[in-house]
Amino acid sequence: MVSTRYIKPFDPWRSPLCTCPPKWSLNPYTGCGHGCLYCYVSGYVPRFYSPRVKRGILEVVGRDSLLIPPGSTIELSSSTDPFQPMDGVLGYSSKIIELLLSRGHRILIATKGTSLLSNHIHTLEKYRDRVSVAVTITTLSSSVAKLLEPFAPQPADRVRVVEELSKCGLYVTVRIDPIIPGLNDDLNELKSMIGKFVETGAKQITVSTYKARYDSLKRLALAFPDTERLWKRLYIDTGERMHGYLYLPRQLRYRLMAELKSMVEGYGLGFATCREGFPHLHTKNYICDGTTPFRRAL
Ligand code: SF4
Repeated sequence: MVSTRYIKPFDPWRSPLCTCPPKWSLNPYTGCGHGCLYCYVSGYVPRFYSPRVKRGILEVVGRDSLLIPPGSTIELSSSTDPFQPMDGVLGYSSKIIELLLSRGHRILIATKGTSLLSNHIHTLEKYRDRVSVAVTITTLSSSVAKLLEPFAPQPADRVRVVEELSKCGLYVTVRIDPIIPGLNDDLNELKSMIGKFVETGAKQITVSTYKARYDSLKRLALAFPDTERLWKRLYIDTGERMHGYLYLPRQLRYRLMAELKSMVEGYGLGFATCREGFPHLHTKNYICDGTTPFRRAL
C-alpha cells in the first residue's frame, strides 16, 4: 500500500451505486468557491464555501506522483472544482496537471471552470491521449444558473470550453448533473440542451438526478421558494432514502434516465448515469466518469 498525502484512492463516499472504475483523486483545494446550492460536499467539509489551498501542494503532489503506479488515472477533482475562481489567481491546477502528465499519468478533469482554456490548452492538446475532460452544464439558462451556481462561469462560457477542447481533439463529456425537478428536468429543454452539446463535438453525456441532503435542500428552497412543495413531495414524502441521501422515486428516475438515453444515443453519443443504480442503461463500453478513452487505450 503506497502512502501518499494528497493523491488518494478515489472514495465515492462509500456509495455502492458508484460505477466509476478504480482511480486516484486529487483536490488541490479544500472547499470550493463556485457556491453551487446543490453541492453535497458542503455537508462533509467544514467551511466548504471558503476555499483554501492545501499546504505545500506542488511539492507534495510532486512526491506523491512518483509513489503511485506509472500510468495511473488521477481525477482533478472529485470533491472540489480544480478551476474554481481561486485557481484563476493561483494557477496551481494547471501546474499540477502538467506535472502529472509529464510523469506519464492520465488525467480526468471534472470542472465547470473556464480558466483551463486560457491557461492550459496547449498542454492538454499535447497530451490529448491521456486527458479526458468532463464539463458540468446543468442548464442553458443564465438566470437559473446565476441562482443555482452563483460564482461558476455562465453556461454559454462552459459550452465554449466543450467546443474548444473538442476542436483540439480532446475527449469531452458533458455532465448534466444534477437534474432537479421543477428547475431543469423539462424534457424539451433537455432535448435542446443535448442537441447543443452535440454541436460542440462532445462525445458523451453523463446524467444524474439531484440527491438531496437537508442542508442543500434548504439552500435550494430559499433560492427557489415556488418549487419547495414539489421537492418536499418528491424527496421527503415519496422519495427513497439511500446511503445518506434522499433520492427521487425509483420509477420517476428510471423513466427520466431511459428517455435521456434514447435522446443521447439517438444523436450518436455515449450515455451514462451517475449513482442512479441503472448501469444497464449505459451505452456499451462507456464509463460514467468520462474515462472511456482510457479504457479503449488499455
Ligand atoms: S463546482 Fe462542484 S465542488 Fe464546487 S460548489 Fe459546485 S458542485 Fe460543489
